[in-house]
Amino acid sequence: MVLSRKIALINLTKESVRVSSIPLDLRRTFLGGRGINMYLLSKVYSKTLDPLSPQNPLIFGAGLLTGTLGFGSRINITAKSPESGYLGDSNMGGDFGAELVQAGFSHLVVTGKSQKPVYLLIRDNEIEFRDARSLMGLDTVETQRRIREELGDEKIKVASIGQAGENLVRFASIHTGMKNAAGRTGMGAVMGSKNLKAVAVRGTLGITISDPKHYLRYYLSEKKKLMETKWVQALGKYGTPILFQYSNTMGFLSVRNNQWTTIGDQGYALEAEALEPYTTGMLSCFGCPAHCRHRYSITEGRYKGARGEGPEYASLGSLGTKLGNLDLEHIIYAVDLCNRYGLDTISTGSYIAWAMELYQRGFLDQEQTGVPLHWGEGEAILELLHHIAHRKGFGKILSEGSFAKKQLGKGSEAYLLDIKNFPIEMTDERLSKSFALGMATSTRGACHMRSRPSLDVLGLPEEVLKKIYGGPVSNQLSSYAGKGRMVWWHELFNAVTDSLGFCRFLTIFSSPHAPSYRQFARLIKLATGLNLSVKELKTAGERIYTLERMMLIREGLSRKEDTLPKRYFDEPVPEGPAQGEVILREAFDQMLEENYRLHGWNKNGVPKKGTLRRLGLDNED
Ligand code: SF4
Repeated sequence: MVLSRKIALINLTKESVRVSSIPLDLRRTFLGGRGINMYLLSKVYSKTLDPLSPQNPLIFGAGLLTGTLGFGSRINITAKSPESGYLGDSNMGGDFGAELVQAGFSHLVVTGKSQKPVYLLIRDNEIEFRDARSLMGLDTVETQRRIREELGDEKIKVASIGQAGENLVRFASIHTGMKNAAGRTGMGAVMGSKNLKAVAVRGTLGITISDPKHYLRYYLSEKKKLMETKWVQALGKYGTPILFQYSNTMGFLSVRNNQWTTIGDQGYALEAEALEPYTTGMLSCFGCPAHCRHRYSITEGRYKGARGEGPEYASLGSLGTKLGNLDLEHIIYAVDLCNRYGLDTISTGSYIAWAMELYQRGFLDQEQTGVPLHWGEGEAILELLHHIAHRKGFGKILSEGSFAKKQLGKGSEAYLLDIKNFPIEMTDERLSKSFALGMATSTRGACHMRSRPSLDVLGLPEEVLKKIYGGPVSNQLSSYAGKGRMVWWHELFNAVTDSLGFCRFLTIFSSPHAPSYRQFARLIKLATGLNLSVKELKTAGERIYTLERMMLIREGLSRKEDTLPKRYFDEPVPEGPAQGEVILREAFDQMLEENYRLHGWNKNGVPKKGTLRRLGLDNED
C-alpha cells in the first residue's frame, strides 16, 4: 500500500540503519515529500547547526503520491543549506523518487559522515553501504553508468553528486539521469560533506492502489482534460524554453545581471524554435503524460558530440542572457557541463553574473579573475565553470557563493542580487509585483518555485481570480492590488504539490484548467484510502509553510529579510517593454502585510500564537 512506505534513518558514521513506519497522523498533517521532510528537519534545525557538519540531516522525501500513475513523480531533498546558511530544499523529477517508493521507502534521513567514500544501495526494503572510492572524481552521468555496470542492472536509478559536490562547492546539486537535478540550495555539498557519492535504488515491490478501478478512471478523465490545455500541449512540444519568448517580449529577463530585462529581437536566437535543430526527442519523468524534457545532440561545430537533455528555460537565462551570452550552442554545452559537474545552473549563472558586473565596474581585474570576464565571453565562462567545480583559482572564491562577499571586498555586495543570501534567478521581477513579492517571502531565499503565481501573466477576468483566490485580485501584472493574497495562496498550494510529489506544471500553477485541491483530494482518496478534504489539504499547506517560516525565525530572520535586491527598488528598468517599472517601497510593504495577515503572522512576519496553535505547531512557539 502507498501508506505502508517507511522512513529509513541512516547513520553514515556508524553504518547503521533504523527503519520506522510513518504514523497516519503525520501523513494527514504533513502528507509526504517536502512536508514530512520539513517536519523531520525541524526536529534538529537550529541557528548553530553547521550545514556541512555530520549533524545536518540530508533528507530525501518522495511525495505522498509519487510512483502512482500520472501526476506524481517528484522527490524533495532537504537539509540546512550551505549556500544560504538557512533553510535548504530542492525538488527533483526523473524516475528516482518513484523507484525509491517501489523499494519500500518514502523518506531517507541521512546523518553522520562516512570515513571513506560510500554509496547507498537500496533494494526492496534492504539498505547496503558500498565502497565508492573508485567513483570519486567522476561526473554525475558517469557515476550513474558505473554503478549500473558494477551491479549489472540497467534498471537501477541513481541520485549522485559530481565533482562540485565532492569539493563542497556551496551550490552543488544532486542529479539523476542526464539532467534531473535537486539543483538549488546546495544539497550536493551536504551530500559531499558526508562522503556520500550516490544513492542507488531498485524497487520491485510495486504499489498497491486502494481503489484501482476508480483511480484509473478518474486519473484518465483528469489527464484528458489536462492534455487538452494549450499549456500542456505547448510544454510537450517545446518544453520550458517556450517561456523564453514571453519573458523576453514582456521584459522579465535577467540581462547582464539585471541591468536590462530584454534582448529584443536578438531573442530569436534563444527561443524554443531555435532549439529544434538539436532536438532528438522529448522525454518524461516517471509516468508523466506531458513529457516536457528535450533530448539533444550537437552534430557539428565547436561542440560537436555534445549530447544530453535540456536546456530548460531557467538555464537558458542563467547561463545565457544573464551573462550577456547569446550563443545557443555554447549555452547548451555550458548547461551540460554544469549537469555533469553537479552545479546548479541558476546559482552558477548568478554568481558569474555578479563577478562580470564587478569586472565591468572595475572592482575586479584579470589579474584577480585569471580570465577576462567581459559579458558574453564564452571561453571565460567555460573556464570558470571548470574552476568553480574544482575550487581552483578565482573559481575557488566563487564556489563560496554569497559567502564570497567578504573576499570580494567592500561594495561588492551591492551587485549580488540576492535575498536571504540566495541569488535571484534568470528573471527580473520589477514588472510583475506578485512575482517580486513571492521572491521576497520565499522560505528558501530568492526562489520562483516557492510561490510564483504564473496565472498572473494570463490577465484572467477578475471574477475568475476572485473565485480561485477567495478575494479580490487585480488582473494587471504591474498592479499591487490583491497580490499579497495571490502569493499567499500559491505559497500554500506549492507546499501541497511538493508534498504530494506532483509536478507544478501539471497543476493550476500553470493553467486555470489544470488539477487543483479538489482533484488532489480525490486522487489521494482513491490511491491511498485516506480521506482528506480540500480544507484539510489547504491547512496542511499552511502548516508546512508556517513550519518553514518558524525555522527561519529560529535563525533570527523576520520582516526585514523579506525584501528585494536594492536594484529593484532604486533603479527603474532602463528600456524595453518594462521600461520605467520599479518596486515602490510603500506599495511593496502593503502587499507584504496583506500576505502576513492571511498567513496569520504579525506585522513583523512572525506567526502568531493562535496560528501556531491552530496548526498544531504549539511546540514551535
Ligand atoms: S511536466 Fe516535465 S518536469 Fe513535470 S513531471 Fe512532466 S516531464 Fe517532468
